[in-house]
Amino acid sequence: MYTGIGASAGIGIGSVVIVKEPSLAYDNVTVSDIAAEKERFNNALEKCIAKTQAMAEDMKTRVGAKEAEILEGHVLLLMDPEMTGQINANIENEKMCAEAAVEQVCDMYAQMFSSIEDEMFQQRATDVCDIKTRLLKILLDVEDLDLASVPEGTVLVAEDLTPSMTAGINPANVAGVLTEIGGKTSHSAILARALEIPAVLSIEGIVSKLENGQTVILDGSTGEVFASPDEELLKKYTAKREEYLAEKAALQAFIGKESATADGHVVELCANIGKPEDAEKVVECDGEGIGLFRTEFLFMDRPQVPTEDEQFEAYKKVAEMLKGKPVIIRTLDIGGDKEIPYLGLAKEENPFLGFRAVRLCLKREDLYRPQLRALLRASAYGEIKIMVPMISCVDEFRAVKAMLEEIKAELDEKGIPYNKDIKVGIMVETPAASLMADAFAKEADFFSIGTNDLTGYTMAADRGNPDVAYLYSTYNPAVLRSIERVIKAGKAEGTMVGMCGEAAADPLLTPLLLSFGLDEFSVSATSILATRKTISLWTMEEANAVAEKAMSLVTEAEVKAYLESVAK
Ligand code: PEP
Ligand code: MG
Repeated sequence: MYTGIGASAGIGIGSVVIVKEPSLAYDNVTVSDIAAEKERFNNALEKCIAKTQAMAEDMKTRVGAKEAEILEGHVLLLMDPEMTGQINANIENEKMCAEAAVEQVCDMYAQMFSSIEDEMFQQRATDVCDIKTRLLKILLDVEDLDLASVPEGTVLVAEDLTPSMTAGINPANVAGVLTEIGGKTSHSAILARALEIPAVLSIEGIVSKLENGQTVILDGSTGEVFASPDEELLKKYTAKREEYLAEKAALQAFIGKESATADGHVVELCANIGKPEDAEKVVECDGEGIGLFRTEFLFMDRPQVPTEDEQFEAYKKVAEMLKGKPVIIRTLDIGGDKEIPYLGLAKEENPFLGFRAVRLCLKREDLYRPQLRALLRASAYGEIKIMVPMISCVDEFRAVKAMLEEIKAELDEKGIPYNKDIKVGIMVETPAASLMADAFAKEADFFSIGTNDLTGYTMAADRGNPDVAYLYSTYNPAVLRSIERVIKAGKAEGTMVGMCGEAAADPLLTPLLLSFGLDEFSVSATSILATRKTISLWTMEEANAVAEKAMSLVTEAEVKAYLESVAK
């Protein structure tokens, strides 16, 4: 058995097809006719841009706008004057042939990006390599791999599954994907999930370990891969695959249904997004609104701060896509583990306890005011609500509200429309906000519990540190008491309480959250239907009994074991 990262769920059973890029060897000659060589490169560049644009269009119609964005990013890179200028300069000054000039510049960029320890930049490095291959193929007149015509039941095995390759895949014929590189958030993983192809990535040396035609089984959830399985194993995994597909199909029955317990207690089931395009999937999965739009992604994926107008367009787009359903947009939450290199923020000893989120925004009005103004302007186009992250004292929230009032007055003066009754709430993700929830409930229009941070801060345990990982668990009685307290404090004042941390999608916690009185669950788009199903399996009486027992336990292990024993 081989193991890798389970990056796209499902069981794949099929025959190996090893995907090997054709040779891109070329004669590294010194050119004499510089003008002709530059023309050769620029013609290839033009072709490459047109080809990538066509691939992006195809991806948009076959897969989705979000996935097409990856290839649209390639187009932008190909049009980057800095990069193409350096390639032309290589031809002109170094008399390099076009192939060598392209290779030298792309490799330099890829190396630069991959030296930055950040997943986004690592991905950029892969993108540059993909572009280099596409350009070299055009220059050398080498045919693309034709993955569209692989036979049904193929398991593709490749060093990496680049966006170029994926663009040609026919998901009906591909039973699975195995690669040597890539993680859960790599482009190959995103694309495999969008195409609903089971995938296991980062399996060391898999290309040389398997042979064409060999039968393999892969489990995209656990990351396990079995080569040449015996009859018994094949039977077991065929049954598993059937079970997985039946469960997936059964979830479709929850589309269009209310999110309610078996005895009719209705809650709201929304989704978390990071980019406007993600809202498409939410609508597709029948989300009842957006419970968290993490706006920092608008700031992260670019070289400078997005303008007020750019932000306005992004917020308006989501509001319109949700057609009047609630859209909770969180103001900038940077610092901690979310860095924005171009802001040049000072390194801190304790970034998680430092100058982050609302703390930073209140000092950096140049960043915050345009965002608040964009949000208010967009509120004229749908049911936008504003949410403030990392609140730890009432004064911070009052300061944000005061700033909003000033901006509203400016908009009134200019006759710019906005929702005068816009709701403004807070993330409850610090122990301080939890302890003061009764006071906040009087001032905030809504709460959303951020269990990802609340767990870390309550247990004083860093999520990324394996030595204290045993503490980072929402099943800790301290965290559960905090959650219960916040929900009850909100209820006492009639303040809507939601949850947008990962715990909202944890089926073990569903009975507790229902019993505490949580009004809104906000989960990833792909968890909407499963969460709706779990909610439907409980009656409030059962949930209350589970909550009572669970809350009487005093260790994390006891709570978890108990919740597992009663899970539905
Ligand atoms: C949280 O802390 O639970 C949360 C939803 O915010 P983020 O994960 O973006 O910090
Ligand atoms: Mg948080």
